[in-house]
Amino acid sequence: MYDSYLTSKIPKEQKELRLQQKAKSIWMTGLSGAGKTTLGLALEKELFHRGFFIQLLDGDDVRLGLNQDLTYSAEGRTENIRRIAEVNALFNNSGIITINCFISPTNAIRQMARSIIGPDNFIEVFVKASLALCEKRDAKGLYQKARQGLIKEFTGIDSPFEEPEYPDLILETTSDTVKQTLQRMVDYIIPLIQYNPT
Ligand code: ADP
Repeated sequence: MYDSYLTSKIPKEQKELRLQQKAKSIWMTGLSGAGKTTLGLALEKELFHRGFFIQLLDGDDVRLGLNQDLTYSAEGRTENIRRIAEVNALFNNSGIITINCFISPTNAIRQMARSIIGPDNFIEVFVKASLALCEKRDAKGLYQKARQGLIKEFTGIDSPFEEPEYPDLILETTSDTVKQTLQRMVDYIIPLIQYNPT
């Protein structure tokens, strides 16, 4: 009895009980400039203030640290998402909710993330804005650089973006304000992460 106590892991369910939440991965996909980071940061604050324990994972941060060795080629993008999905699985097993802000441009890449994380834990949110609008916003000046050929393999310009086929939620950031979009996300996500003992 004592031996098995020492050698077994604490199950995810006990960590969720401690944190009083269901550990899910909220996966935001969309073009650069669609609004993933803006909404991810806003959602993190909103959920934190409501008592949830969350970790935000953002493309720019991960590319500067964990995945600084990877390129933006198809292989580099796949490995980028594979590692991030594995990190998600670790957080989820610790009972922690994650918010992911990654372009994750293809169905195959998102499918890989879904299967590593586990379909029951994966909430796919399509942050939708037209390429024209994202290019007009050009918050980081990246579209201009891509058009000038200074950045290669830029999603939407010379690298594909496939719209998700069956996202759990679609947020139209072309027509809706940040406040409206955030509210839609909060209304959808809260029931999925609330701790409801059965
Ligand atoms: P991404 O992370 O997808 O590259 P960012 O969040 O960095 O995109 O940039 C999105 C830009 O669009 C920001 O300047 C933001 O203020 C603006 N924006 C306008 N409407 C919305 C909306 N409804 N949701 C999110 N961002 C919006």
